[in-house]
Amino acid sequence: MQGSAPGPGLFPFDKFSSTPWIIDGVRDDAATDTARGDLSRRLFLVPRTQVVGLATSGGRVTGIDLVTAGTRTTLPVPASCAVILAAGTIENTRLALTSLGLGDTRFGAPRLGNLIGHLHSNITVRIRRAAFGLPAAADSLETTAFLVRGSASGRRFHLQVSAAAVGGSDPERNMWQQVPDIDTLDHIRANQDPDWIVVVFRGIGEMGPGTALSPDPARSWIDLSPETDQFGAQRAYVNLVATGDDMTLWTRMDQATFTLAAALSGNDPKNIEYLDRRTNTWQATAPVPDAGGGGSWRDGLGSTHHEAGPLAMGTPGTSVTDSAGRFHHLTNAYVAGPALFPALGSANPSLTALSLARRTAQAIVTERTLTPPPGLTPLSLAPGDWTMIAAPGTNPAMRRLGQILETAGSYGLYSYHAQQFADATIWIEWRELAAGDNSGIYLRIPDPTAPDALHQADVNGHEIQIDDLGAGNPAGLDIHRTGAIYGLQAASSFPAHPAGQWNSYLIETRGTTIRVTLNGTLVNDYTSNRATTGFLALQVHSGTIQYRNLRATTTP
Ligand SMILES: Cc1cc2nc3c(=O)[nH]c(=O)nc-3n(C[C@H](O)[C@H](O)[C@H](O)COP(=O)(O)OP(=O)(O)OC[C@H]3O[C@@H](n4cnc5c(N)ncnc54)[C@H](O)[C@@H]3O)c2cc1C
Repeated sequence: MQGSAPGPGLFPFDKFSSTPWIIDGVRDDAATDTARGDLSRRLFLVPRTQVVGLATSGGRVTGIDLVTAGTRTTLPVPASCAVILAAGTIENTRLALTSLGLGDTRFGAPRLGNLIGHLHSNITVRIRRAAFGLPAAADSLETTAFLVRGSASGRRFHLQVSAAAVGGSDPERNMWQQVPDIDTLDHIRANQDPDWIVVVFRGIGEMGPGTALSPDPARSWIDLSPETDQFGAQRAYVNLVATGDDMTLWTRMDQATFTLAAALSGNDPKNIEYLDRRTNTWQATAPVPDAGGGGSWRDGLGSTHHEAGPLAMGTPGTSVTDSAGRFHHLTNAYVAGPALFPALGSANPSLTALSLARRTAQAIVTERTLTPPPGLTPLSLAPGDWTMIAAPGTNPAMRRLGQILETAGSYGLYSYHAQQFADATIWIEWRELAAGDNSGIYLRIPDPTAPDALHQADVNGHEIQIDDLGAGNPAGLDIHRTGAIYGLQAASSFPAHPAGQWNSYLIETRGTTIRVTLNGTLVNDYTSNRATTGFLALQVHSGTIQYRNLRATTTP
């Protein structure tokens, strides 16, 4: 999400809403291929839906309990699906406590520790323009912002320093809280102070981590409240406590801020005034800290909304999730968001969480990606290397969707005539778009220009069948079903994925032997008395089958 500010000291109009961007993404995705409907889509928005729980069985999440538009329902989770909890730190942790059997039960309600947040101070001063060498009111002043880093008692802090000449005593109102209104822009700009620049120091300090699995009762944690919400689920109870070291850091961070503010004014008391947040008035002297080192410039714990940590990554036994964000005790459930952080540092959390989410996505994709054996060469998809052998009077087609080939119409064989295969290893990924869609991979067939090529392919070649319903199977025989050498030998098992999901065929031909491995399982080992060499073709039969990642090698 990128936006540009309408003027100095102001944030972009879209700072506070990523919703239009998400809706754009959903619309773009839906518009890419309306003909195939949901099967070609990758992004769905499910409105008015609350996840109230997760069902687990056999070490994986098997269902998601939902309330959609007031109706309670359970969405089954197939074995091939991954579930990512991305409901925010508190809600993710609540779901882990209520549904995933996690939490230390020594304290009554199951509890997870390592809840960490930021220690937040807002110190606002105004400094005379003259101290910066600036003239009295200029037409337009640039906003400036910079970052100062520090550390104390083994923790980090940083100051986000922003300065603006607009916004009265509280430029933060423009910068962080107010969605700019295009109608009032000129008014805001005209409201410059001729003498002063207001400088805001946002201090962000790191709270020390604890352990998630063995929560320290004196530190921060989340457990379940006896109180239930409107869906009957127990609410999360959040206990956020700053330790002695945290308080030391906070005090040192505030001291550093006041020192820096004075330095910016040239250490000249005439050039600086301090905002008293209780009275919203400027004071000539720096506020005096209370006995604990704090003051009205400090925000309450948790008000920075940077909660992190209870589902921390790490090694099994000492943490909840692994480095990909997967729950140690579940094979298909992951977490996204700052809930994963073992420690928080002082930086704002979103970019770290986004980076980790990319890593989680990569891990899920890698785990579910079928990988061809090494040493195979991609087949050329150049149209010139392929010929459609069409049945008389028909109009079969092979569409190209990027690197995907897709069957359309009927009947024909889309023959790859660039190479013949005798002893070969062939890798092809395919999927049906609907149950019963029918195609197949022809092996060892004649040249497309051969007389009677279609018939010769059927009687001398071999078809590795794709049809989950096995249309036209003779009684008791599965020789028309996926994995069969069509009409010759049925598959020994049927590990194909449902329509819409990709499958892989590894086909190995050696002399008279044809072996077919479907999704990693050997399903056919056939000894043939037909042709032992020839061309390869993709059948255009009925429905829609997609092919991708076609690879092959010949063996000596
Ligand atoms: C006012 C404010 C300002 C902030 N400013 C910054 C900043 O400048 N920089 C920064 O790095 N961080 C900032 N943060 C923190 C940052 O927004 C969070 O750390 C980040 O959004 C957390 O991401 P998340 O994906 O874990 O959760 P979220 O972004 O909170 O997303 C969780 C989503 O899950 C949905 N949800 C929750 N429970 C359920 C359920 N049971 N069923 C269905 N859906 C559910 C919620 O509606 C929400 O859409 C700010 C936070 C706030 C509140």
